[in-house]
Amino acid sequence: MSIEDDPSVTEAVMVTDMNERIIRINPAFSTLTGHSPESITGCHASVLYERSEQLAADNTVKLKSLKSESIWTESVNIKKENGDIIQGRQMTVASNDKDIGATHYIHIFEPLNSERNNGAFDHNTHLPNRNMFKEILAQELENAKRKHFKLGVLFIDIDHFKVVNDSLGYAKGDQLLEQVAQRLKSQLRGNDLIASLSGNQFAILLPDLAHPEDATIVTLKLMSVLENGFKIDDHEIVLTISTGIVIFPGDGDDNETLLQNAERSMYKSKEDGGNNYHFFKASIQSSAINRLSLESELRKAIEREEFVLHYQPQIDIASGHVVGMESLIRWHHPERGMVPPFHFIPVAEQTGMIIPIGDWVMNEACRQNRAWQDSGLGNLKVAVNLSARQFSDRMLISKIESALNRSGLDPTFLEMEITESIIMKDIESTVALLEQMAEMGLALSIDDFGTGYSSLSYLKRFPINKLKIDKSFIDDVISSEDDAKIVEAIIGLSHNLKLNVICEGVEDADQLGWLQQHRCNEIQGYYFSKPLPADEFEAFVKSRNSLF
Ligand code: C2E
Ligand code: MG
Ligand code: MG
Repeated sequence: MSIEDDPSVTEAVMVTDMNERIIRINPAFSTLTGHSPESITGCHASVLYERSEQLAADNTVKLKSLKSESIWTESVNIKKENGDIIQGRQMTVASNDKDIGATHYIHIFEPLNSERNNGAFDHNTHLPNRNMFKEILAQELENAKRKHFKLGVLFIDIDHFKVVNDSLGYAKGDQLLEQVAQRLKSQLRGNDLIASLSGNQFAILLPDLAHPEDATIVTLKLMSVLENGFKIDDHEIVLTISTGIVIFPGDGDDNETLLQNAERSMYKSKEDGGNNYHFFKASIQSSAINRLSLESELRKAIEREEFVLHYQPQIDIASGHVVGMESLIRWHHPERGMVPPFHFIPVAEQTGMIIPIGDWVMNEACRQNRAWQDSGLGNLKVAVNLSARQFSDRMLISKIESALNRSGLDPTFLEMEITESIIMKDIESTVALLEQMAEMGLALSIDDFGTGYSSLSYLKRFPINKLKIDKSFIDDVISSEDDAKIVEAIIGLSHNLKLNVICEGVEDADQLGWLQQHRCNEIQGYYFSKPLPADEFEAFVKSRNSLF
């Protein structure tokens, strides 16, 4: 029997089709909201939610991540039949048929302040609780077995949390946990699931892991997001976490075993003194990035001038000319050869090494672009990626100014690429900083657009010039109707807001043709060129723009 038909299920359940039209609701849903099945069946689910204007933007992300049997949880306000509003948490699961893919969505709603203690969510953090996590893990395991996917589970324990409770009291401790939960969650992608296991323990499910090491990257991001500390009353509290990591297949075949093994690995991190992570498998642990040695190597890399910038052309669709380039860092490691940014940027971010590295990138990109302009290559824009830590560096503006002054590059030929998730983190301070940059004459673009949680109303407030649609949407733009619709919507949105729109990760002629037809402005991707060393980039521009 499915969950919505089971009379013993006390959660409010609503089932919708793939277009979010309501197919049915269960008795608990009727009791909670006052809506009868007769009055609500066939309506669009948006009639039930309070903030429907934000829903359109949120839904893009949500439906995208729900494409492959996964879970989405969010805070929602539901309108009762009598007009009252109930605040709560909603979890959406895409129900899949193994042959035809997702067929419908199951939404499970739980009001906040619910008295029941065996519900689906933790009452303090509003995250799914241990039971729910285990249930979802079991489902995802089935899926992973069927489709031969890898998945990862992180078992996280906050170090020395007892001290906080003992000194501040449990009420403040709970407040702090709620903030920790939010911070951790902000680092995850739509498909990942975070749950509260107990007081100071969390679990994270990473479905469809491309590579076990990706779990390291997530863990490092989680460790680094806690470094800023928390303010509770007048106390500044810095927390660290110990994490145990298991990977399926390999570390257990069922949810119980995986969770137990993850917990055991977490205790190994504790034995090391905390603020660390351990894989269950020693072999993965040893091949994983060794944080300490990498940190000291990164320090030396700047002095030894081991970093180089490669440049990936950005092509204007209408003219076919190169109009700009993205600078992408590479590390020429004396033993390991060329190290891609994916392997060291997260560690650099976590250790703070990204600040000197980012300064170097900024100066080098400006210098190179000015040198190209002086040699007659034309007036191209150079884009520089900014990470979260760089973005909150108080010296950022003066560093940009000094790179411009030193190189003599006009600010209109320097573009800052900031990811959607960084921009949406703290709206007020972001707006102020972006306005300062815009006043300087810099170009601003939002990177990886579509993967975060943009709200359309905020987007209008940012003085940005460009949206960069993330590669993940372009990958399936031909094969997936959903992705095609999303890309079409983002292009339309950009035109309406008078923003330039560029697609990254374009790899073949079909994708290019489709994007041309749908009025995308610019293209970046392997179809035209991979990121190139400076001399090769120069040759590429010369041939493409028919210079010399
Ligand atoms: P990003 O800013 O989204 O950069 C785009 C990435 O997609 C680059 O990977 C690029 O090589 C890759 N790419 C472009 N077109 C295609 C394509 O058609 N197919 C495929 N498969 N890939 C394509 P890369 O160079 O490995 O950089 C990865 C990420 O590392 C960047 O993502 C950016 O977040 C970060 N990064 C790179 N350089 C810097 C830097 O100087 N500073 C900072 N803070 N981050 C950087
Ligand atoms: Mg970028
Ligand atoms: Mg990107």
